Amino acid sequence: MFFGLTFMAIANSKSSQQRWRDEARARSERMDRHQRLSWLADDHLDADERALLDDLTAQIEADDPPHAARDCPECGRPFVLVRLRGVQLDCCARCRGIWFDPGELKLISEVDSEVPQTQKATRPSRHACPDCGEVMIEYALFNPLNLLVDRCPRGHGVYLEDRELERVFQIS
Ligand SMILES: [Zn+2]
Ligand SMILES: [Zn+2]
Repeated sequence: MFFGLTFMAIANSKSSQQRWRDEARARSERMDRHQRLSWLADDHLDADERALLDDLTAQIEADDPPHAARDCPECGRPFVLVRLRGVQLDCCARCRGIWFDPGELKLISEVDSEVPQTQKATRPSRHACPDCGEVMIEYALFNPLNLLVDRCPRGHGVYLEDRELERVFQIS
C-alpha cells in the first residue's frame, strides 16, 4: 500500500507529467512523415490491397517503365507511368512517391473523399506541385495524427510520399 501510494504520487506529480510531455513532443518532432509511417504496424492490409501494392512495386521496378510528363517533387527526376485499377498514375522510381490527379486517389483507395474533411491546412509542404510549381500544402487526410498529404493549393492533385498509400489502405 505504502509503495503503491508513493508510486502514484510520483507518477502524478506535475514535473513527471511535464517531463513525459516534453519527451513525447521531442520524439514526435524528430520523426518525419516517413519515420512515423514505418513506425506503425503494417498488418492491416487485406489481400487486394497487398496485391495492389506489390503490383505497383513490380511496375516501378520494371526494366524500362514509360516516363511521365511531370517530374517528381522530391528528387526532380521524371515520374514513371504505372497503371493500377485501370488508372494511370505518376510515380517516382526513386522516392516511391505517387502523384494523384483530382479524383484518382479516391478511385484507387476507395476513400470517401480525397479532399481533407476538415479543410484545415497544417503547414506548407516541403514539395512544390509538379504541375504548376506552387508550394503544396500539407493537409490532414482522415485525422491529423494519422496521415498528412501534400495537395496543390490550385487543386492540381495530391502527392503521397513513399508508403503513404499503404497507410491510406490501413486507415480506410
Ligand atoms: Zn523522386
Ligand atoms: Zn499545382
